[in-house]
Amino acid sequence: MDNNMKILVVEDETAIREGLCDVLVYHGYQVDSAAAGPEGYQKAASGQFDLVLLDVMLPGMDGYAICEKLRQDDREQAIIMLTARDSDADIIQGLRMGADDYVSKPFSVQQLVLRIEAVLRRSRVGQAQARTITLPAITIDTENLAGQGADGEVPFTRREIEVLSYLAQHSDRPVSREELLTKVWGYGRNLEIETRTVDIHIAKIRRKIEADPANPQSLVTVRGAGYRLDTGL
Ligand code: CA
Repeated sequence: MDNNMKILVVEDETAIREGLCDVLVYHGYQVDSAAAGPEGYQKAASGQFDLVLLDVMLPGMDGYAICEKLRQDDREQAIIMLTARDSDADIIQGLRMGADDYVSKPFSVQQLVLRIEAVLRRSRVGQAQARTITLPAITIDTENLAGQGADGEVPFTRREIEVLSYLAQHSDRPVSREELLTKVWGYGRNLEIETRTVDIHIAKIRRKIEADPANPQSLVTVRGAGYRLDTGL
């Protein structure tokens, strides 16, 4: 529990919005909310929130559009999408637009709070990470969240850089999805393990760092073991 953390809830259904606000206040967070898309985007874009909880279906501007627009200016903002249960399309779309994670509705309050805590805790990768990750197709500046590839500058989200940095630090072995969820996303054993979050992030990263994302040479899958970053060393 951290009383300084500020969360923005963007949700048009009054009962859910007010319920979320009550739960978060109870857990010690400072909370603000918005009921429509444009207002949610404006508040989120102010940069004053540690985390934005973003519903998908919103009047005026949907959650994907808000997420995408936010990411254009701010690659550090923590974002959790609230998606419909069992809708893979929603989940994948939200993560593609740069969300850190998602929670499916209807959600258990306990799981949501644990997920929020994990995202806010941020990874412990940060301090020890190398300033530069050099791969055959791209050179990545981890502090500026940007890479230089054959076609120019490629922007990364904070979470993508954390995944890459963790893999780079352990490039001598494969890293499992569970290890990434624990070490990078900060999930404890009390969280339901969701592997799609990791896989979709890996797919996004591959599109940015591989000359041919369908045939990855740097971020390789090790069958039955996880992912390994081949830095060529
Ligand atoms: Ca809605």
